[in-house]
Amino acid sequence: LSSVPSLHGDADADLVPIKGNPPSLINLPSGCAFHPRCRYADRNGDRSRTDVPELRQVVERGHLVACHLPEAARQRIYRDEIAQVGVAR
Ligand code: SF4
Repeated sequence: LSSVPSLHGDADADLVPIKGNPPSLINLPSGCAFHPRCRYADRNGDRSRTDVPELRQVVERGHLVACHLPEAARQRIYRDEIAQVGVAR
């Protein structure tokens, strides 16, 4: 989310780029396709590299998520690292 411009956030806030390049869509990485570029992939041991995360509904926010991180960890990352830089949605 920090790499995407926001219509509602601080227009002067710096975007946070995602390292590396997008993967080939005909040769996706194993496990979570984002793991080579995800700064949080190591927080799950090897799970992000080996297991495709299941798409689950996040009830209280009305959207879907496919990530091995527990809900509390994702919320903590969003609160402490993403919303803090002024590009939160
Ligand atoms: S499962 Fe979540 S933490 Fe792991 S690589 Fe994918 S997006 Fe990152």
